[in-house]
Amino acid sequence: MTKPKVFVTRIIPDAGIDMVLDYCDAAVWQEELPPPRSELISNVKGIDGLLCLLTDQIDAELMEAAGSGLKVISNHAVGFDNVDVAEATRRRIPVGNTPGVLTDTTADFAFALLMAAARRVVEADRYTRAGRWKTWGPKVLLGQDVSGATLGIIGFGRIGKGMAKRAAGFDMRVLFYDPFCSDDPYAQEIGAKSVDLETVLSQADFISVHTPLLDDTHHLINDEAFDRMKQTAILINTSRGPVVDPDALYRALTGGSIAAAALDVTDPEPIPKDSPLLTLENLIIAPHIASGSVATRDKMATMAAANLIAGLKGERLPYCVNPEVYNQS
Ligand code: NAD
Repeated sequence: MTKPKVFVTRIIPDAGIDMVLDYCDAAVWQEELPPPRSELISNVKGIDGLLCLLTDQIDAELMEAAGSGLKVISNHAVGFDNVDVAEATRRRIPVGNTPGVLTDTTADFAFALLMAAARRVVEADRYTRAGRWKTWGPKVLLGQDVSGATLGIIGFGRIGKGMAKRAAGFDMRVLFYDPFCSDDPYAQEIGAKSVDLETVLSQADFISVHTPLLDDTHHLINDEAFDRMKQTAILINTSRGPVVDPDALYRALTGGSIAAAALDVTDPEPIPKDSPLLTLENLIIAPHIASGSVATRDKMATMAAANLIAGLKGERLPYCVNPEVYNQS
């Protein structure tokens, strides 16, 4: 039997790639960096299925280049802002993602960033290595308390709730803003309070962003938002880079509108080497690794492979972001 032809845009963990190689005739992009656009376009020609990453722009041009045989697009991520889902739906192509399995891992990392920024952990390491540790000093590298502080969560979905759960263990007061989820039984259980955006911005000591990247959330955190925050506030972003306006963030961190920030995601990615943000002591930047534990990346790879294979078999994807494709006549 001829195996379906697929393109996998990067080497994913063995647990997933083994499933793909078993079932498919797969071309796997072997480089550390994503395929350049021209390579992506030429590699998708005539494929039945695509397993892609958030670094690949999957748009109408690419779907057109793949041709009418393209049966499934499986994104190795929970976010899918890199895929033109409306176009895929128009073409009746199901799009898969990997929700749930990375919730705790990502929330762990968001909380790690919160703690690190609050207690200046990265700065302290730089200080020590630079030989600046001369004695125990009553005013050296003073940070902010996490216990008892107010956490403001923007986007109370899976990861936002995970963040709230962790905060409850630190006796934090939790406020959240989510226009699509205000009356949530889980929020009541852990004592998190639904408020408007203005209240989150103005009352929180720590603000953690967990929305998808949408037209509505692009630059949601802009100059006006920073102006409403406490001057002692710390911003955490593990969602998508463009949710925070990077120029406004630079102005806020240098002008004293907020105290510090910690990012796992930037706009653009990777952050340009000459970005002025890289000069700031009060900013931590990680290279988009919030879901990066060994176990979670294995699970993501397995789910992405399962979505791909289901789509190739003409079965419903276990995790589909546009299930309406199955209702089209
Ligand atoms: P989710 O869909 O469970 O939650 C998103 C929440 O945001 C929903 O409750 C939604 O109602 C809310 N929302 C939508 N628009 C909003 C707005 N304008 N203002 C406030 N809230 C709004 O998604 P999730 O699994 O919690 O993941 C959230 C996002 O985190 C993903 O879309 C992805 O982009 C990002 N993410 C990043 C990493 C990483 O490695 N840094 C890992 C996983 C997810």
